[in-house]
Amino acid sequence: MSLGAMQDWTMRISHVIDHAAREAPTREIVTRWADGSETRTNWAGIHRDARKMAQALQALGLKPGDKVASLAMNHSRHLVSWFGVAGMGGVLHTCNPRLFEEQLEYIVGHAEDKVMLYDAAFQPIIDKMRDQWPTVEHYICFDPPEGSDATAFEDWIGAQSGEFEWVAGDERDPCMICYTSGTTGNPKGVQYEHRSTVLHALAGLQPSTFNFSASSVMLPVVPMFHAASWGLPYAGAMAGIKFVFSAVNDPAVLDEMMKKEGVTDSAGVPTVWLAHFQYCDANDIELPKLRAATIGGSAAPRFMIERLMKNGTRVQHAWGMTETSPIGTVGGPTADWDEMTFDQKVEKTMKQGRPIFGVELRTVDLDDRTKVLPRDGEASGALQIRGPWVVKRYFKAEEDALTADGWFDTGDVAILHPDGTMQITDRTKDVIKSGGEWISSVELENAAVGHPAVAEAACVGMFHPKWDERPVLFVVKKEGKDCTAEEVVNFLSDKVAKWWLPDAVEFVDDIPHTATGKISKKDLRDRFSDYTLA
Ligand code: ADP
Repeated sequence: MSLGAMQDWTMRISHVIDHAAREAPTREIVTRWADGSETRTNWAGIHRDARKMAQALQALGLKPGDKVASLAMNHSRHLVSWFGVAGMGGVLHTCNPRLFEEQLEYIVGHAEDKVMLYDAAFQPIIDKMRDQWPTVEHYICFDPPEGSDATAFEDWIGAQSGEFEWVAGDERDPCMICYTSGTTGNPKGVQYEHRSTVLHALAGLQPSTFNFSASSVMLPVVPMFHAASWGLPYAGAMAGIKFVFSAVNDPAVLDEMMKKEGVTDSAGVPTVWLAHFQYCDANDIELPKLRAATIGGSAAPRFMIERLMKNGTRVQHAWGMTETSPIGTVGGPTADWDEMTFDQKVEKTMKQGRPIFGVELRTVDLDDRTKVLPRDGEASGALQIRGPWVVKRYFKAEEDALTADGWFDTGDVAILHPDGTMQITDRTKDVIKSGGEWISSVELENAAVGHPAVAEAACVGMFHPKWDERPVLFVVKKEGKDCTAEEVVNFLSDKVAKWWLPDAVEFVDDIPHTATGKISKKDLRDRFSDYTLA
């Protein structure tokens, strides 16, 4: 059979930046730097600098397929690197600066990074790690302070003419690698392709995903080193939106930038909003009036959704993983939205939304993984996913990371509802099995953080002689607030089934977190390995 007769147009990232520079050349990219200064460029400027950077990488001898690492926060020069590295056929490895030393040593060595781009704020990490990164030949600092002898990014690319043709290649070539934070074993590398990235970004533009238009002004709080900043830089370039970046995650700075720059959209993990609420409350100022807030990475609690919605902000509660580029599902108004009460809308938004086109989901029985469960809004099982931007094989792994019939097992436990809504109920390793029945640790945590004195809560199953496991809730109290274990349990009693109520509530000063800011149940279990239920 002969092929169709449409034009050849490889899905490469270079098309994305070419488009932004051609169609939205003057749309601004604003950066607030760590030292408090601000710079403004635009898509034409990003395009020009990306070509200079691609040239500069070639001048260093880099070849297509070579890896360039970054250890950096969100700013316009980091954005330039996203397009510059891909444009010379390279692979950008965005490293999470919050990883432990051993993990940083492992991932840079495993990826065989040749160049390290970094923020001056991370100079101490660079100094400490340099000897442990034998593959890295060049260090370039994005924002060296006055008097520093580091190679400055602007000087480095400034030496080039920018007369550069993007390196051509296959659309299945890799363009970015992100490592999972590795709560068990070594971090695993996920290589995004040009094609997967372009498709993922296109899907991100849908009204039911990020809903970007030319008038959107986005301040992504989600770091550029966290799962490609959820694909926002690519989707934003496609729509020619204005970006506002802050290299510091200080709520005072974010609040100021949002209000000053007319930010309409933001995206971040729930803790970011928590900090923003606290800042506004402590200073008696209003929350910014955003059009939409994308919240993902962990479950958005009810009070957060309610407060944002009451402030006129559409809450796009999203679920995804590094392995899924990362968007899998996003919440937005459903067909019956206008008929729903406020409470029903909140209730729906607490679930993780619906799969965007390109993503297929199914749940299978936790004990018998060959049994596919009905989408009846009741059965909860292991969540599996497939699609063009879902990992097939981890970097350098010898085998595919898929089930025998081609699905990726997410490690999450979920319920699929008849209207397509997906609801995360737990992670496979965190569900609590009490007397043969499953208890969702996540639901207990979400309910507990609604208590006015609770800042953070983590629930784990502890050994119980009769029931196998029973839930124990670890709670960090809000500063200056007090409550008793009994009050917390009473508070939960009309929110979850009676037999789910925790057997004990333990007050702790802090709860351990992973490098991506999620509760680390593994560390919590380690910390309380001697714990016994009375
Ligand atoms: P890591 O933090 O291990 O690098 P990711 O950043 O890829 O991993 O996180 C993916 C996991 O985060 C998902 O498998 C899921 O457990 C959790 N997660 C992401 N979004 C949500 C959400 N909206 N609600 C609940 N859990 C979420």
